[in-house]
Amino acid sequence: MIGQGISAAQFRAMLGHVAHRIEESESRLNALDAAIGDGDHGITMRLGFAAIEQHLSTLSEDASITEILQESGAVFMDATGGAIGVILGRMLMAGGKGLDHVEAFGTAELKSLLVAMESGGMKAGKAQLGDKTILDALHGAIEAFSRFPKTDCLTRAFERAAEAAEVAAERTASMPSRVGRASRLGDRSLGHPDPGAVSFAIILRAMSEWMQQTS
Ligand SMILES: [Mg+2]
Repeated sequence: MIGQGISAAQFRAMLGHVAHRIEESESRLNALDAAIGDGDHGITMRLGFAAIEQHLSTLSEDASITEILQESGAVFMDATGGAIGVILGRMLMAGGKGLDHVEAFGTAELKSLLVAMESGGMKAGKAQLGDKTILDALHGAIEAFSRFPKTDCLTRAFERAAEAAEVAAERTASMPSRVGRASRLGDRSLGHPDPGAVSFAIILRAMSEWMQQTS
């Protein structure tokens, strides 16, 4: 039963589906970024995830989830420029910590992954919650865990996390930018969601879809 947890190989396949969804979202993400930034967020994300997918295909079959995440983060950082490259790269690398000996990645592991990603992202981005960044969507997903039981099945946990990240990403439209390039816009960034937050929601939604399709 996949709802009890997934293997490292399945986790890797799930990231492949994420890369596919990110690629499909490229123009939407570019358009969101064009409203408050330089319009390249979709390109950056597509390049980063294409590099991850390519690199993961070269890893040995028994690579652990920790290795998969750490390699993915390093490759993402190398393949992309700008703040998001460093922040999401560091988030992925940090996310792998503590999952070394996990044989079945279940609901508890999903929560620890997200929490570790948040602290890694905060350090890398020097951003706080409410600063209109990717961290706001991530935090929304973490908060969703307090609303359902630890024993919940992984498919459902991904579904709820994805939904919460989408709501939280939308909510960044009501925040003025405080960090990064868009901070120069201040209140003029109001009404536009943060492209990084939307990307994070797309990532979790793709993971949730993969779970549903595979269950
Ligand atoms: Mg940009």
